[in-house]
Amino acid sequence: MIATDLRRGVEQLGDMIAAANVIVPFTGAGISTESGIPDFRSPGGLWSRNRPIPYDEFVASQDARDESWRRRFNMEPTFAAARPGRGHRALAALYKAGKIPAVITQNIDNLHQSSGFAADHVVELHGNTTYARCIGCDKHHDLIWAKQRFDRTGKAPSCDDCGGPVKTATISFGQAMPEDAMRRASELAQNCDLFLVVGSSLVVWPAAGMPLLAKNCGARLVIVNNEPTEQDDAADLVIRYDIGETLGPFVGN
Ligand SMILES: [Zn+2]
Repeated sequence: MIATDLRRGVEQLGDMIAAANVIVPFTGAGISTESGIPDFRSPGGLWSRNRPIPYDEFVASQDARDESWRRRFNMEPTFAAARPGRGHRALAALYKAGKIPAVITQNIDNLHQSSGFAADHVVELHGNTTYARCIGCDKHHDLIWAKQRFDRTGKAPSCDDCGGPVKTATISFGQAMPEDAMRRASELAQNCDLFLVVGSSLVVWPAAGMPLLAKNCGARLVIVNNEPTEQDDAADLVIRYDIGETLGPFVGN
């Protein structure tokens, strides 16, 4: 069912939230645009101007690593200034109220953690761009450390321990999906009674398989997204309005 107007959509969503015992949200870029984080995939978005650097290229080429870090530091003012929006805060309120055990996200911006979710309760399918890891030994590195290295040498940083390339803790194109996060996401999808997609156009697989997995296991499915998705037909409720406007009424829960 597609909500015919925003007010009715909010009412219907409110009824479904009230009736649910375990809500699992699945979030994508749309929830963070209100926070000033651009949707990389959108037409005119960053990726239509800057071709993403695939994982194997990052590993093989110093130039690719330098370019990758140059781009990341260019984005730092945007990421550093971003604060949770109404969508993040509404989910955080439901989390605090005990209705949401954890959030599954395709986002890399750390805004669910900033809104009040414990890091353990944010299942990141595409990693996190607010810190870095060594590709060789998996050592955690701060971005400040990486920036100091980059500014001093003009080169992408290498690990102090093993000399391996250091990369933001995101999942690049061509990089294996994080097994643990995928397993946890599947478990969450199979053990909820309301699966709430927020701001994802559900085009990136295998992540986009989660809503149907939840639905097949008996959950009700709600999709809140500006644009139609290929899974709207499977949803119990589709709300095609602004995410902040739709979830704003739930911030005070
Ligand atoms: Zn290392």
